[in-house]
Amino acid sequence: MNREENVAKVLAVTNQKGGVGKSTTAVNLAACLADAAQRVLLIDLDPQGNATTGCGIAKLKGLLTVYAVLIGQATIDDNRLKTAYGFDLLPATRDLAGAEVDLISLERREFRLRDAVQAVLANYDFVLLDCPPALNMLTVNGLVAADRVMIPMQCEYYALEGLTDLVTTLKKVRANLNPRLEIEGLLRTMFDPRSTLTQQVSKELESHFGEKVYRTIVPRNVRLAEAPSYGKPVIFFDRASKGAQAYLLLADELLARHHGRFQSAVRTTN
Ligand code: ADP
Ligand code: MG
Repeated sequence: MNREENVAKVLAVTNQKGGVGKSTTAVNLAACLADAAQRVLLIDLDPQGNATTGCGIAKLKGLLTVYAVLIGQATIDDNRLKTAYGFDLLPATRDLAGAEVDLISLERREFRLRDAVQAVLANYDFVLLDCPPALNMLTVNGLVAADRVMIPMQCEYYALEGLTDLVTTLKKVRANLNPRLEIEGLLRTMFDPRSTLTQQVSKELESHFGEKVYRTIVPRNVRLAEAPSYGKPVIFFDRASKGAQAYLLLADELLARHHGRFQSAVRTTN
């Protein structure tokens, strides 16, 4: 089924491994897509709330977050916030950890997020889901709500094994819960070009996954690691940094894939 052009694409940023750059990618891609005049909703699906604090939002209670949406006590429209960065956020707090148990007894427990997202699809161009580092019920809700998955990964020794597990999970979700689900792309993050191993893994990735590997590579960049402690996406913290430039290019690459149009290659001010 083709969806209408003006309905949001739902992208789950996922990898069951922690610390690979999911939240960094979700927040910065949201900001860079908004920078390219896209209407974006970022949904934080991780009880750690890194995407939430990374947008400068703190001290919320569960009933004002994605948690209440999942358990059916609020809608996305009720609980979304406008960030200072041009996109909307449905935040998460630690309370979300309880959803794992609470969902068990609810009807359509794998479809709660999908059902909620349907109601706002017409308001956005992109809905980005920042998934937790686990293959749990929250991640399943993310994968069921999504059209596509974006997989950030570090090019290190065990990365390819982890990817095999993830691909198996995606196949199961596709077979049982969400036949639309596809891999949008694999994103190399925290890239260190001086490492021989990194280069090797990166090449293997390209030969296995071909076009699915984004041309854009996110380098290891200290400004990307610093920006969340100021509650800012990196383009609002240091737009000229290599990290900011990489995420601007990633947004361009994504838009080129989706709309067949390519924005000016680097919208820099340096
Ligand atoms: P995940 O959400 O997959 O657990 P994060 O996005 O939280 O991963 O990233 C893990 C840590 O690495 C964070 O402290 C983050 O600031 C840092 N980080 C992420 N991407 C980069 C990068 N490209 N360069 C430097 N540090 C990064
Ligand atoms: Mg995270």
